[in-house]
Amino acid sequence: MKIIMLGAPGAGKGTQAKMISEKYDIPHISTGDIFRANIKNGTELGKKAKSYMDQGLLVPDELVVDLVVDRVQQDDCTKGYILDGFPRTIPQAEALDAALGEDKIDYAIDIEVPDSNIVERMGGRRACVGCGATYHIVYNPTKEEGKCDKCGEALILRDDDKPETVQKRLDVYHEQTQPLIDHYTKAGSLVEFDGTLDINVVFENIIKVLG
Ligand code: ADP
Ligand code: AMP
Repeated sequence: MKIIMLGAPGAGKGTQAKMISEKYDIPHISTGDIFRANIKNGTELGKKAKSYMDQGLLVPDELVVDLVVDRVQQDDCTKGYILDGFPRTIPQAEALDAALGEDKIDYAIDIEVPDSNIVERMGGRRACVGCGATYHIVYNPTKEEGKCDKCGEALILRDDDKPETVQKRLDVYHEQTQPLIDHYTKAGSLVEFDGTLDINVVFENIIKVLG
């Protein structure tokens, strides 16, 4: 099963992608996580990506397309995968379509959350510096404040989740990523979900469709 996640930043793509990945035992491939790991390790890719991410802009297509196309051809992806945060532009979607050929994406899961909810979602998001797990201070809190439930490391507010960057990321989403909803509707793979519901309810609704 090949899945992509669509939706505004903070809509809940990563949260649901992790749950889907566990249930269906397919790899969760997050381009945001890949960039953050490269930043942490001080790689050339990380240095280039950081300058865009910090401004709330997308990393240029040429830095992300080959990376994902190579990743989905690895052995652990033969039974499927879930792409989280890719594609984010029409050229990225076209490059993925071309790489897949007849072996198309099965589901483009679009999680709908109005912009008015997003600032609160992202202001309350906390990410683990160790394993990258995400929480929310109100909607998905850790058992012990400031400490990851999974690995015990510290939690941080992502630089690009600060309110001044969030609005820019929303503008970029509407301009460059939202057109993908049309793209995947035409391809017959779009399925839409109300992302304002409780995390577990959104998940139940998704698995009703995926089977
Ligand atoms: P995305 O990957 O789309 O950027 P995340 O999955 O990281 O978004 O979710 C953004 C924030 O909102 C996180 O703090 C997460 O815990 C929280 N969140 C995710 N889904 C929901 C939901 N259905 N209701 C309330 N909060 C949610
Ligand atoms: P995310 O963790 O998905 O919210 O991504 C964080 C940031 O990484 C985005 O705001 C972009 O700057 C960058 N990024 C992640 N995925 C992509 C992509 N497919 N194309 C361009 N930039 C991306």
